[in-house]
Amino acid sequence: MVKINLATCVGCGMCVRECPVGALSLIERKAVASDRCVQCNICIRVCKFQAISRSEQATGTIKCSSCPVQCEIQDGFTGACRRYENRQGKLVRNRALVIDYVGQKSDGTIAQPLITAAGAGTAYPCCKPAPHIVSGVVDGVEVVTVVTEAPLSYSGVKVKIDTNYHIGAEGAKIKRDGKVVGMVDTEEYGSKMLSIGGANLLTGADGFIVARTIVDFANGEKVKLTVVDGATLELQAGERPVINGVADTKMRVGCGSATIGLFAKDFVGVVDEAIILDHHVVGLFSEHLAGAEVGMSWSGVVPNARKSTRSRYFGEHGHGWGGTHIEHPIEAIKSVDMTIAKAGMKILVTETTGQKAALFEVQPDGTVASLEMSDPVKRLVNRIADNCEESRVSVIYTGGTGGSARAGVTTQPLALTRAVHAGIVNLTIGGAPTYVLPGGGINFMVDAEKVVSKAFTWVPTPATVAPVEYTLRKSDYEAIGGHMSQIRTVDQIREKA
Ligand code: SF4
Ligand code: SF4
Repeated sequence: MVKINLATCVGCGMCVRECPVGALSLIERKAVASDRCVQCNICIRVCKFQAISRSEQATGTIKCSSCPVQCEIQDGFTGACRRYENRQGKLVRNRALVIDYVGQKSDGTIAQPLITAAGAGTAYPCCKPAPHIVSGVVDGVEVVTVVTEAPLSYSGVKVKIDTNYHIGAEGAKIKRDGKVVGMVDTEEYGSKMLSIGGANLLTGADGFIVARTIVDFANGEKVKLTVVDGATLELQAGERPVINGVADTKMRVGCGSATIGLFAKDFVGVVDEAIILDHHVVGLFSEHLAGAEVGMSWSGVVPNARKSTRSRYFGEHGHGWGGTHIEHPIEAIKSVDMTIAKAGMKILVTETTGQKAALFEVQPDGTVASLEMSDPVKRLVNRIADNCEESRVSVIYTGGTGGSARAGVTTQPLALTRAVHAGIVNLTIGGAPTYVLPGGGINFMVDAEKVVSKAFTWVPTPATVAPVEYTLRKSDYEAIGGHMSQIRTVDQIREKA
């Protein structure tokens, strides 16, 4: 186990928080290591006071060679990645290989892997053949699947949050426990995007917490984050996002202009004007071409937003209605031109989710007064809300397998890359289909919720570890320089597992 220099240890507790196997504790404000320690070096790297150093390998430990960390593991304990365990002097992968899994039903000879890589382990160094290379017959065709749990230094997650709430400026840093783990990305239609991880953050000063955060997201755990100068977030794949302590429920039906396009006919005879607040585009019903289609002309009402094109106004981001800066609905009405408007006109102000709504009446002097919402107006607003999808968090794991991991698959790395891009090889992650980005490399994206449960881990190089499967026809495998002598049947693998 590691040695602690009690003279230089200040008892800050950083090493205790970062140790992946719980081998450190603080006793009388000094760090103390236990037998669990595998000499993974994390504490040595995070200690700012150089108070920790390595020892000789302890007797009874086994050195794991499945990644460059080379953990020294005592009987009954696991390595830093928690994948390998010393069981009475034998090093074993402590998760059974997931052979049968509930995958997506898709057609095609190579559409699905014969087995998954979850529980397969890693062959290291990479020049060794992958842990399992299996063959089987699909639709009368011999197929091969090569599986490995690949440590990926180039990896991260894109977190998609279906919400109108303002979470922070694009490019703002995102922190977990005070450490930078990502940034706010550009918005997508109706969703805020976060970029967590990536090679530069993984290799930075806080790479361990970055790796842990990527893996927690990918495995469907709840993660608490803070956006610098922005919101606090509690996020979990498949669940509602909790933003500043409030769970959001509805995703917008579209921008303000789109909402009018969708529901223009429903507004007729119910209100004379509608302002649909949205942080992207605020819509004005009477001015909209969809409004013209249903017999409207501009009402004289001017919304409180920056005009873009006819009936479309750019909203300001904020913590108010529709994710704009408008906190009170009356502020949505900038002015009323009484040379066009008439006293008694009814103006609806609502959001693109239909969650909040207010009704106003134009007064003879051009001001507006609040009105109680009538039943027809409530029905109109409910119709918008009822057409909104549930707000949720989605996680897309991204990685690059175009490097040394290819050596375990084939002797011709470029041939493998080309075969993946040509569709000769089907790349899956824990049984889930991937999208392989065009251009060089084997950079992929996968919906983390479709991957075999809890299949991601991390090693303190640091890198995340993903279950990678390559499936192709056996004849194609031979053509790209596959390790043919290592092929086993699924039944042989099943017997061994
Ligand atoms: S070397 Fe690794 S396992 Fe050992 S105490 Fe430090 S962080 Fe924990
Ligand atoms: S972190 Fe690396 S060396 Fe340690 S147990 Fe895991 S694979 Fe083995």
